[in-house]
Amino acid sequence: MSGYLVFLEQREGLLRKSSLETWNRVQALAADEEPSIPVCGVILGPADTQTSENELYGSGRLFHATAPDFLLYDSERYARIVSDVFRKEECSTLFFADTALSRDLAPKLSIRLEASLLSGCARFVDERSGSCSRSVYAGSCIASFTAQLEKRIFTLFSSPEPFSTVLKAGTIVISPFDDYCQAISRPSAAVQKIAMTTGMRDVAEAGIIVAGGRGIGSREGFAMLEELAGLLGGSVGASRAVVDEGWRPHAEQVGQTGKSVAPLLYLACGISGSVQHLAGIGRAGTIVAINSDRHAPIFDTADFGIVGDVHAVIPGFIEEVRDFLKKK
Ligand SMILES: Cc1cc2nc3c(=O)[nH]c(=O)nc-3n(C[C@H](O)[C@H](O)[C@H](O)COP(=O)(O)OP(=O)(O)OC[C@H]3O[C@@H](n4cnc5c(N)ncnc54)[C@H](O)[C@@H]3O)c2cc1C
Repeated sequence: MSGYLVFLEQREGLLRKSSLETWNRVQALAADEEPSIPVCGVILGPADTQTSENELYGSGRLFHATAPDFLLYDSERYARIVSDVFRKEECSTLFFADTALSRDLAPKLSIRLEASLLSGCARFVDERSGSCSRSVYAGSCIASFTAQLEKRIFTLFSSPEPFSTVLKAGTIVISPFDDYCQAISRPSAAVQKIAMTTGMRDVAEAGIIVAGGRGIGSREGFAMLEELAGLLGGSVGASRAVVDEGWRPHAEQVGQTGKSVAPLLYLACGISGSVQHLAGIGRAGTIVAINSDRHAPIFDTADFGIVGDVHAVIPGFIEEVRDFLKKK
């Protein structure tokens, strides 16, 4: 029993960027071992695995159930199928990207498989002994954890760096397994589907985030952040104060009780920089803060700071970006 299994999550038929990154990171880990460790993956739901955006490195077998009834997450059914593949393929370790889905599914699987669960891992300290590090106490410390059981489940945070690897191109064999899935489990009846359609990428996966705090002043004030995020091809994020006010949905909240994000660029507009907010942006690339208070704690973390009123700075910024895009 030694193989690695990676769960590749799709949303609305698109493979999640964080899952692709997890697959590639696991391939690199497996290739480092002597002898190298076999890797397989599971995709539940229709998703295009062949596009250049969905670059899967390494080699292994991908079990892909393409039936549309997998489009919606069904915890019982997903747990049943993933645990079955894990056992049949004689795996020792199961990997997920750290997402809302995996935070629900991974604990269920740790009970089913009697496996140690280490969630929110940022980095492996020593994969062989099952030890990894993650931030604790709202991001103020990094702690190492070691799995106690032979079988292990990890949920991995994504990193702001684009994945680059020296992995040799291998062969990834895609095996349809709809019939097998239908035979072992039927879908539960969906009660209601609540869809959020902002047209923007989920903040947890965005490469650029324009985030607003209470300093934006109102729900309407976020229109300029939406405009800027749209021009930059990014997403809008929010502090908890803003979500509590009802100005933005919880799905956009960044921080300890929101999402942990890893964009290349994080623009913090009218956000004070509380420790709970900072807990969510520790893996961001470049942080730019705009705040009218020169002593705001966000300036201690930001790479670049602008002291000023968001209502004066952001419209000017939008104009500059427009001009730049026109000239391009
Ligand atoms: C258990 C727990 C969990 C929490 N989890 C989270 C979390 O996940 N995410 C999170 O964000 N918070 C979280 N919080 C709340 C956190 O402590 C802060 O209250 C919150 O982050 C503050 O949000 P803010 O920065 O938008 O608002 P404020 O702290 O009110 O800051 C507003 C900022 O805007 C500036 N400003 C005002 N007007 C302007 C202007 N016109 N132009 C420019 N700047 C202006 C002000 O100078 C100020 O710095 C949590 C708290 C607790 C106790």
